Amino acid sequence: RPNARHDQAGHRPADLPATIQHYIDGQLVDSLGGETFDVLDPVSNETYVQAAAGQQGDVDAAVAAARRAFTDGPWPRMLPRERSRVLHKIADIVESRGDRLAELESFDSGLPITQALGQARRAAENFRFFADLIVAQADDTYKVPGRQINYVNRKPIGVAGLITPWNTPFMLESWKLAPAIATGNTVVLKPAEFTPLSASLWAGIFEEAGLPAGVFNLVNGLGEEAGDALVKHPDVPLISFTGESSTGQLIFGNAAPYLKGLSMELGGKSPAVVFADADLDAAIDATIFGVFSLNGERCTAGSRILVERPVYDEFVERYAAQAARVRVGYPHDPETEVGALVHPEHYEKVMGYVELGKTEGRLVAGGGRPEGFDFGNFVAPTVFADVAPDARIFTEEIFGPVVAITPFDTEAEALELANGTRYGLAAYVWTNDLKRAHNFSQAVEAGMVWLNSNNVRDLRTPFGGVKASGLGHEGGYRSIDFYTDSQAVHITL
Ligand code: NAD
Repeated sequence: RPNARHDQAGHRPADLPATIQHYIDGQLVDSLGGETFDVLDPVSNETYVQAAAGQQGDVDAAVAAARRAFTDGPWPRMLPRERSRVLHKIADIVESRGDRLAELESFDSGLPITQALGQARRAAENFRFFADLIVAQADDTYKVPGRQINYVNRKPIGVAGLITPWNTPFMLESWKLAPAIATGNTVVLKPAEFTPLSASLWAGIFEEAGLPAGVFNLVNGLGEEAGDALVKHPDVPLISFTGESSTGQLIFGNAAPYLKGLSMELGGKSPAVVFADADLDAAIDATIFGVFSLNGERCTAGSRILVERPVYDEFVERYAAQAARVRVGYPHDPETEVGALVHPEHYEKVMGYVELGKTEGRLVAGGGRPEGFDFGNFVAPTVFADVAPDARIFTEEIFGPVVAITPFDTEAEALELANGTRYGLAAYVWTNDLKRAHNFSQAVEAGMVWLNSNNVRDLRTPFGGVKASGLGHEGGYRSIDFYTDSQAVHITL
């Protein structure tokens, strides 16, 4: 239905779907019982579409289709090279639809359009990468002279359940879909209920690329309904989940009776540690980007900045000034650097932390709605200085454009502060002292460390967290390992 705010600002995408359906066994379908849920756009917070709300019966149908495609269909039996060709076609199509994808993603999630476009390109690259990797895959063979030959027979596992969050939805879906199907599995995807729009494009993309029906199935719906049914389905031996740590804990328990394979990419509260000898210009630019890009809704956001005392005051002053210059605006505007947070519920959560921060730290930038945006889910880039290590804004994941800055005096204190939360996803270290750089990076409790570097990564490297930030690592061959069984075959000579 018409949305005044969007029409006025001229950024409602053309040809929005009338409804968002499931995709099961090659068919777009509604929920068996007709259940739906509202999908809001984050600029007006008005409902712009209804999406099918999957229940147990819908998940059963999707899993049955995926199971048939796995046991009887061609996909698991095709040569890696044949599957690779389909994956490359998927990458080509995603690339060619980058602008449309970015437009829909930005409208649905509130991400700035330029950043949504970057994520669409990453999605294409994920397919291209696993298309290449699957044909380069080599497995171990051992000869025990005079006795045995042992070799690895790698096999797809079956139906993989993929459950994804709402920040960068399409890209994160691709990060699971690509390795899962590259290795010959079939899948049921349950995308996040806040942002189902871009996921509705997958079916057309896969059909055009020639993926056989039943290999990819999509069930929309709420986590506690559709997600829960997928986790508890006995014919789904693998669950790859990205989302909050508390949801991960719940899924871990629900999957336990079935001893499912689990890969979990969870929350974070990643430190950026700035030593006095660092290149401050580079450190400030990178730490601004690290927490304010993607609206701060980024699992690897450097949301705690620890700064060595001699440069602390200068850092805080310059950082606050730069944060105040970050451009908040309509998600569709190419000039926008921070758009609208995904959903009013999430907005309330983030604003709760902004108010709490005013009692836990010294507000030096932001602290509420940006000027001119008294509607929707807009939050001004917010910076708190002098935040104590036991403050909630220092230890809890906020997942918005809010950062806490804390001083330290010694390297040992910096390490203790960096490790002082339950999370361990990423860490960023800024120093020009070579020995300290390596020693600190190796000691910090984080799955990934960026040293004098922005958040960029090669797809071959491990991706994942330690402590409450995750279980297992994906990336490169680790993803292939998760989605396959490595059967050992022993032959006596
Ligand atoms: P969430 O945990 O609320 O939801 C994630 C997905 O799980 C959604 O699809 C949801 O419907 C589903 N879900 C919810 N309850 C479920 C249940 N009981 N059973 C099965 N499925 C269920 O997370 P979110 O708010 O969508 O995403 C934000 C979180 O994701 C943040 O904590 C962020 O750090 C994390 N994240 C982590 C990474 C990473 O790679 N480590 C990447 C992106 C986001």
